[in-house]
Amino acid sequence: MAADQVLETRRLERMEDLVSLCARRGYIFASSEIYGGINGFWDYGPLGTELKNNLKAFWWQRMIRERADVEGIDSAIIAHPRTWEASGHVEHFSDPMVDCRACKKRFRADQLDDAGSCSSREGTSEHDLTEPRNFNLMLQTRIGASEDAASTAYLRAETCQPIFNDFKRVREAARQKVPFGIGQIGKAFRNEINPRNFTFRSREFEQAELEFFCHPSERAKWFEHWKEERLRFHRDLGFDDDVLRTRPHDADELAHYCKAAVDVEYRFPFGWQEIEGIHDRGDWDLSRHSEYSGKDLSVTDEATKERYMPMVIETSVGVDRTCLALLANAYCEEVIGDGDKRTVLRLSPAIAPIKAAVLPLSKKLAEPAHALERDLRRHLNIFYDDAGNIGRRYRRQDEAGTPYCVTLDFETADDGKVTVRERDSMAQERIAVGAVIAYLEERVGFPA
Ligand code: ATP
Repeated sequence: MAADQVLETRRLERMEDLVSLCARRGYIFASSEIYGGINGFWDYGPLGTELKNNLKAFWWQRMIRERADVEGIDSAIIAHPRTWEASGHVEHFSDPMVDCRACKKRFRADQLDDAGSCSSREGTSEHDLTEPRNFNLMLQTRIGASEDAASTAYLRAETCQPIFNDFKRVREAARQKVPFGIGQIGKAFRNEINPRNFTFRSREFEQAELEFFCHPSERAKWFEHWKEERLRFHRDLGFDDDVLRTRPHDADELAHYCKAAVDVEYRFPFGWQEIEGIHDRGDWDLSRHSEYSGKDLSVTDEATKERYMPMVIETSVGVDRTCLALLANAYCEEVIGDGDKRTVLRLSPAIAPIKAAVLPLSKKLAEPAHALERDLRRHLNIFYDDAGNIGRRYRRQDEAGTPYCVTLDFETADDGKVTVRERDSMAQERIAVGAVIAYLEERVGFPA
């Protein structure tokens, strides 16, 4: 039986397996690990950073660059504190929290099913819970040297509020007319009561958000448009219908200003969970910021001279949650032809951190192999490895999610050819050294 044949494939069942691969391969690991970590904060290593950057670049390409009707910005993380009063976050952005008087653990009152048992009460394993009270999720900081209330500021809880602050300036500077959108990618912070499921619920995370401004008569049309666009994006990332679905919100789940909302969900090993929210926010944000800032953010329709407050359709995707879904979706343990096992990340080539590994069969081939590596590095993210058994080198690249390995052997000097091995099928083909760049570039781009 051929050694390069997949006999059995097992998808990810336990998150622990992914957590351990991510730490081992330097994708994602606890922040401040040497101090024991800090709950809800994560660091991306060399591979994780490339993965995340590829995802963000794809979002930026699709949502900003390819659209004449969307502008991109990069706003400060700290906005004027009035921003968060206007948005309702100071008053309402809270989760119900309960404490166990015995073991001192803290839980979200709506997630008590996951609270486990109490280790500190004699004769019972039940927690001794306080009444729920509201806990505001915004992370506070202080600006400047004084310590009075006026110096209190917040790390942004979502990236969209600064977009509303900048709406008028960007519309005028970019000479845009409604309908148009503003998007940005950036950090958001929430003091989550119970960070969990690896990076799924973190206290510091990244969002990629679009706020699309339209006339009130067109909100339903644009809501549908963006829902379809966002589903296309997720499908192009490689999520099939068995792991991706939309879930419209019931009326009682909607924020009071929200006319319609739909979550895009991925089927994680811990269940179907939201990775993106698409919301019809009405004119809530622009009206509130007009009121709190005293600056009129309404617009005039040049044809009809109608003055109106634009409606907002929002698409808000978690960059970290999508990275987690990509990794969970790609993870496979396989039994292959010779009874050997391998762990492979079947990431789509466009999102994979390393596009190809250059692997000379022997260190004696290092010189031409380095020459090829240098050429390829000018185009793509490349890895070089000339140490040890070739089978083990392939396995390491499989686990890192590298879609192609390019091997130089002792015939390369004579026939000018190298062997390219594809990660998922393990199929190998020999191509001319000079054709490698074109071969790879044809295969590692995002769908247009
Ligand atoms: P959840 O109900 O899971 O707390 P949410 O509905 O509050 O999420 P939104 O405010 O709609 O989330 O934020 C948009 C996106 O930002 C989410 O779909 C998610 O991908 C991401 N996100 C929100 N909170 C977190 C978090 N604590 N950690 C990581 N990503 C997050």
